Amino acid sequence: MSIAPTTAPPSLSYELYPPVNRDASEGVFNTIAALESTDPDYVSVTYSGSPARRNASLELIEHLIQNTRLRPLAHLTCVGESRESLQNLIRHFISLGVRGVLALRGDLPTNPNERRGEFPFARYLIELIREVEADHSAALAGGRLGVGVAAYPIQHPESPSFEHDVEVLLAKERSGANYAITQVYFQPEEYTNLVESSRRAGVTIPVVPGVIPLNSLPRLNRLAKMTGVAPDPILAHALETASTEAERHRIGVAAAVNLARRAFDDGAPGVHLYTFNDHRGSLDVIEQLELPRTRATLTNAWATRAAV
Ligand code: FAD
Repeated sequence: MSIAPTTAPPSLSYELYPPVNRDASEGVFNTIAALESTDPDYVSVTYSGSPARRNASLELIEHLIQNTRLRPLAHLTCVGESRESLQNLIRHFISLGVRGVLALRGDLPTNPNERRGEFPFARYLIELIREVEADHSAALAGGRLGVGVAAYPIQHPESPSFEHDVEVLLAKERSGANYAITQVYFQPEEYTNLVESSRRAGVTIPVVPGVIPLNSLPRLNRLAKMTGVAPDPILAHALETASTEAERHRIGVAAAVNLARRAFDDGAPGVHLYTFNDHRGSLDVIEQLELPRTRATLTNAWATRAAV
């Protein structure tokens, strides 16, 4: 038996999108197999959109639990949802064996007349998760769910200021969040500034940088639309003027490696890679980062004894 070292190694995690059709499923299964080989601490599964898409999230989580060694982190969004439906989902996660939830508000309904419901902000969802968890202490064997939240190196599009975002992060920690994962960002100083400002405000939870290897300009622009984070003009220009796919891949990986290295220099506790269900960039980033991985090797001592 090998004993793990006393200092925690950096965490490694990936984000997956639930596949929407058979072709996409095949791609995701290949990506899952490739990511599994890097022994991540967890793989997060996004949750949004139509009921079919949300169902696909649950199916992907079930697949990860039943057929792989990967531990899923279930994203959950609360805006516009009823208490009962959220409670049921959290219970369902626990019964499936999920032990990590990323508590999110989710995007606002496009129709301004649609109601935001009882859970207009993520912190109320965190409180609900802790309530449901308390009812399941026995099933959790006295343990707890790991609850993560979103953090914003660049001001959230609806927020009055960056300082307000930091106050919201502190409120989420006080409601019971264990750690945060950042929205995408492109300048290393933006992560540093978020962590320093958060610590000054009293935030103590780990803030994991979310990094994405981007290998195409359309994808960069799509991401900007989704997140409200303006594309980095230097990265955009490099991707636009690169003449081959291989060159664009190299540019995207190099930019992500630089962000992750600089975050580690600033004491980041790990790295979360947004994969866009394409493992190639993420694997190259991980290879170049040369992260120490210390997943203990499990030897089945009982089976060995029984065989003697
Ligand atoms: P909150 O923390 O509730 O903040 C939302 C806004 O409300 C912010 O502007 C905040 O400043 C403001 N606010 C919060 N509390 C208060 C208050 N008490 N008073 C006034 N204003 C307040 N979206 C999905 O739909 N599905 C996903 O799977 C998903 N995964 C994500 C993963 C990560 C790592 C990140 C960073 C984002 C993800 N998102 C996802 C996007 C997220 O849902 C959006 O960014 C959303 O707009 C805000 O979510 P939040 O949890 O940060 O909300």
